[in-house]
Amino acid sequence: MKNLYRSIPSVDVCLAALEAADPGLTHSLPRGLLRDMVTAFWDDLREDIRNERRRDTAALGLDAQLPAMLKKIRRALRSGLHPVLNAAGVVVHTNLGRSVLADSARWALDVAASGYCSLEMDGETGGRGSRHDVAEDLIRRLSGAEAGVVVNNNAAAVLLALDTFCKGGEVIVSRGELVEIGGSFRIPEILEKSGVRLREVGATNRTHLRDYQAAITENTRALLRVHTSNYRIVGFQSAVPLPQLAELARKRGLPLFEDLGSGCLVDLSPYGLPPEPTVASIIAAGADLVMFSGDKALGGPQAGIIAGRKALINEMKANPLMRALRCDKLCLAALEATLRVYLLNDAMKHIPTLRMIAVSPKELARKARSLAARIRKATQGHCGVTLRRGESRVGGGAFPECELPTTLVCVEPARISANVLKMRLLACEPPLVGRLEENAFCLDPRTIFSRDHSLIARLMAEALVTSGE
Ligand SMILES: *Cc1c(COP(=O)(O)O)cnc(C)c1O
Repeated sequence: MKNLYRSIPSVDVCLAALEAADPGLTHSLPRGLLRDMVTAFWDDLREDIRNERRRDTAALGLDAQLPAMLKKIRRALRSGLHPVLNAAGVVVHTNLGRSVLADSARWALDVAASGYCSLEMDGETGGRGSRHDVAEDLIRRLSGAEAGVVVNNNAAAVLLALDTFCKGGEVIVSRGELVEIGGSFRIPEILEKSGVRLREVGATNRTHLRDYQAAITENTRALLRVHTSNYRIVGFQSAVPLPQLAELARKRGLPLFEDLGSGCLVDLSPYGLPPEPTVASIIAAGADLVMFSGDKALGGPQAGIIAGRKALINEMKANPLMRALRCDKLCLAALEATLRVYLLNDAMKHIPTLRMIAVSPKELARKARSLAARIRKATQGHCGVTLRRGESRVGGGAFPECELPTTLVCVEPARISANVLKMRLLACEPPLVGRLEENAFCLDPRTIFSRDHSLIARLMAEALVTSGE
């Protein structure tokens, strides 16, 4: 063991070696910080020796450890929010930031970030205007609603609606719609937080108009419909059609709210997806407010969009809670640009989320062949590379039961397990996220940009060929 400790180099020797290997890195760092990082690196190795996880003197020398040391220091320095390659085939991947923005949204972000902007300036007087004007006209045009407003996310939209109209009273929700969205958004809890009593009606699988009718009392403030998003009730089930519920609400003088979750502005059924109500169809069917996310199937930045009756929207804008839930200029810039793409009828072409959902199986097969060829060339016999039929998912709680056909590139390593390969790719720079299927690491071309094919091939070679120890 003594010999093992002796093979550990001094910090100064390490600093000189780092300097020679990567002058850029060492020049961009204060000397003291670099010293601490080197010390921490060897401390970890000392710990390994103590626990007898390391026994080989040669593998402990500076030459053997320099690549790992460099890697660790670069990792410690990269930002918390760094690029990730999504080969998992989940288009709206919540862990990976949901939607990739359209080019025009990225440009709008750049413009809004690099100078002053008209966020709250009245264009005519130069005096104080309202940030709510930024996207309202677009929301109206695209939804057919009288008015619209944007908040931080859809959870905030639901909270604001409940706080504005239902506090201290009851809201009626079907038992089939008391959904939990990933990341701890639960309809019953959000109601409770808003100081609203939940009045559940119907059964898990079936709710009838008479259930709603019987539950309405003088304490009722609204009827709420919630898109079940990430699950489906199949078999013996029924829900009340929206127009009937809207008629009931109108007759009893109550507002009808719809939490649509991942709102669609366009009908995706021509692209092989099951029919989903669009925001405009919900408004046309008589909902007074509809709320949906900006960064799910819409393909924009994180936001909660509310469309509906002008009087209701105005009341929400005037709620003091609005101040805590409002969006900043960057979000509004990106959202406005995204909505403009829809207005120009260019969404299927220019919104990456929609393009990835709608791409044809033939195009995916072509991309898979091209990626497989690059990986084969870069890895030269260190793995088997085959193509397989597979399924991708929309994600983000949208279209849960719908699997989109794709062609997977499956990599079976010759000397390590697929799981070890997966972990090594996760540790790469940038990390590559894929999925394991039948002892293979699989990449779905649906969520991979063609510009990244050669980078992916290089990472694959790095993970398979270098020992990674
Ligand atoms: C996703 C979702 C939410 C939460 O939306 P965020 O934009 O993530 O806050 C709320 N309700 C439903 C039905 C959803 O699907």
